[in-house]
Amino acid sequence: MSSILIVEDEISLASVLRRGFEAEGLRVDVAHDGNEGLRLALSEEYDAIVLDVMLPGLDGHRLCATVRAAGLWTPILMLTAKDSEYDEAEGLDTGADDYLTKPFSYLVLQARLRALLRRGGRARTATIETGDLVLEPEGKRCTRAGAEIQLTAREFDLLAALARRPGVTVSKGALLEEVWDLPSDSDPNVVEVHVSSLRRKLDPAPATGERLLHTARGIGYRLVPTHGGGA
Ligand code: CA
Repeated sequence: MSSILIVEDEISLASVLRRGFEAEGLRVDVAHDGNEGLRLALSEEYDAIVLDVMLPGLDGHRLCATVRAAGLWTPILMLTAKDSEYDEAEGLDTGADDYLTKPFSYLVLQARLRALLRRGGRARTATIETGDLVLEPEGKRCTRAGAEIQLTAREFDLLAALARRPGVTVSKGALLEEVWDLPSDSDPNVVEVHVSSLRRKLDPAPATGERLLHTARGIGYRLVPTHGGGA
């Protein structure tokens, strides 16, 4: 079943869209402000995001740019207001895949969303940058404050899974699924061992003593970006 995130502060429009998508058999989450939308976009997996531009908290363009900077390529359909100061070019610049001007017909939205779901997200090959950490999935290259850090492929994938959601606690079960392709109730020891080896290589940063990897006891791990790594 495909799952969709709707980020729209007009409550009535959001609920019309939710009912329409659910009637088509899609799983739907709704956020009514930009910060909640960003939190969901980074912590859950969606097949597409319908994103209003004018939002309280964090506007749609900044939300979109932040999601892309985190290396997530979930297809995004932007909803823009007709007389808004924002234009479609700006939406596409920040990484949206398509846009629709309000008011729009539900049938047009449905067709555009179907097209995005068919196309799917682009491969996760975009460089991930968070604080002074840079991860290049292409060659599994990791640098912190400009200094290269040698990681194994598995360590790289684990660090990338955390770096795509900076500040968000990711459970050991979610990491087992995403990094090892194992059921989420598998023995978490393999995750703990790899986090320990990442810590030996990354923490604390020699110049500042800052730590990148934090433990949420009994839950999982969180990467908090650091900025003073020495370069
Ligand atoms: Ca709005």
